[in-house]
Amino acid sequence: MKSNASLKKIAGLLENAQSVLIFPHINVDGDALGSAAALCRVLRNMKKDAWILLEGEIPSYISFMDTEFCTEDANCITQPDICLCVDCNEESRMPKRADKYRAGKVRLCIDHHVTEDGFGDYYYIDGDEAATAQIIYKLILEMDADIDKTIAESIYIGISTDTGGFQYSNTSAKTHVIASKLFEKGIDHTGIMVRLHQTVPLKTVRLQAEILERMEVLADGRAAISYVSKEMLQELSASLDDAEGSVDLLRNIEGVEMAAFLKESDDSVRVSMRAKSFSDVYQIAAKFGGGGHAKAAGCTLRIPLKEAVEAVKQEIMAYWEKQGK
Ligand code: 5GP
Ligand code: MN
Repeated sequence: MKSNASLKKIAGLLENAQSVLIFPHINVDGDALGSAAALCRVLRNMKKDAWILLEGEIPSYISFMDTEFCTEDANCITQPDICLCVDCNEESRMPKRADKYRAGKVRLCIDHHVTEDGFGDYYYIDGDEAATAQIIYKLILEMDADIDKTIAESIYIGISTDTGGFQYSNTSAKTHVIASKLFEKGIDHTGIMVRLHQTVPLKTVRLQAEILERMEVLADGRAAISYVSKEMLQELSASLDDAEGSVDLLRNIEGVEMAAFLKESDDSVRVSMRAKSFSDVYQIAAKFGGGGHAKAAGCTLRIPLKEAVEAVKQEIMAYWEKQGK
């Protein structure tokens, strides 16, 4: 836990503000967008000028979400009373928007990613929460605001994304208590689960076949690594978006405790890492300047794909050698 303000304090600051600009992280996911959307709708209901400022497209697998207040126009609010960063706590996770964040009269941060430092003027960062959306739920209760079906669904999507549909070890009694409160608001559980977890495009399945073809198993079967190159995408007329979720295929293999999946883009290689039950992929991501959680972490490398695969392999093997001692 890294906080210099209570949720009550943050609720008070939001209630007294007229304009609020919300910053989810780059490569926005269900938790970042769900958290932002839920809070933004609450603020709009309170008649505030509130927007969600994005950089980059919303990936297709979460395009069904409540995106009404999303914009890429940094001038939607000239000088926000509050700039609020959700589901991240560093400028590198909002590179093109960092200037705008700093321009807020007051800067807030609500997050659940492990960090040594705070971020902004007032921050509430709790690494024990499965999703930022769980913190947003508590914040909305502090604000004494109504949670309608749309807001409940945004929160539910956030929690469901970051717990892998309530599967991962971050899922707790608290997670289920919040989920049950959201059910009472009439959320479409089946619709959300089907969209999030059972709507794999055929193109993705074909791409996954290629990814599995290139998979390597390391550390006596305890780790698996694979990648998607620009060439592979070209051959299937696919985009990086279509490779989303592929890291889970590697993690789900019997005996595999740690999975790494690399995605080549024009100027960098993004690495997604997952751990199953006891290993810690945050340690590996941190070696490359990335971050996240023990069980789900990531980083960006600015070297050619083949070198990046080698570098991550080396760190994974070093990790397991250390564990073996
Ligand atoms: P994903 O693999 O889904 O992109 O990311 C897994 C987790 O690691 C998420 O919680 C995400 O926020 C975090 N993460 C991914 N890439 C980075 C990065 O470059 N820096 C930091 N600090 N966190 C990251
Ligand atoms: Mn999250």
